[in-house]
Amino acid sequence: MNIIIFGPPGIGKGSVSGLLKDKYRVPHISTGNIFRESSDKRIRHYLEKGLLVPDEDVMRVVEKRLKEKDCQNGFILDGFPRTLEQAGFLEEKGVKISIVLNLLGDTDVIVARLSGRLICPKCGAIYHIRNIKPKKKGICDKCGTELVHRKDDQPDVVRNRIDVYRKQTKVLIEYYRKRNLLVDIQADGQLSDVVNNITAVIEDKV
Ligand SMILES: [Zn+2]
Repeated sequence: MNIIIFGPPGIGKGSVSGLLKDKYRVPHISTGNIFRESSDKRIRHYLEKGLLVPDEDVMRVVEKRLKEKDCQNGFILDGFPRTLEQAGFLEEKGVKISIVLNLLGDTDVIVARLSGRLICPKCGAIYHIRNIKPKKKGICDKCGTELVHRKDDQPDVVRNRIDVYRKQTKVLIEYYRKRNLLVDIQADGQLSDVVNNITAVIEDKV
């Protein structure tokens, strides 16, 4: 089961992927996470400058990851491909894609969700001013650290990130739609509903 997942920042791709990963026993491969954990000098350089990592470096890292043992039964690719060249690269390498999930959501809903988000700078736990309140205001339940807003979660920044995402992925969405692999999933509702819809689509299609 080789899945690609698309969705604007803040739609909950991470949570959705986490549940699918458990259900189908395939790894969730997020290029964001691979990069953050990478000690590769070139990758570090781009990240520290806040620049997009060039195609050739991304492809090198992804190719290596897909060859690891846990990918034998499939994977969930998140954050890749990001360009047509990268999509072509997967084809070239003979990586067969079973389904491409296109998570859709309203910009205002995402902005509201993200701008209320609080994160623990120490353990990474995520809270929300309205939806997932910590027991003690402003303090992490798990480790007692003071919670912070991420700069990335400010409304203007979120809107901008969503715009950039939509512009960047437009051609990829078309690419996979033409190949009859793309499935649109309304994803700004309850996580459990979203995952149930996806599961139904996967079982129907794959
Ligand atoms: Zn914490």
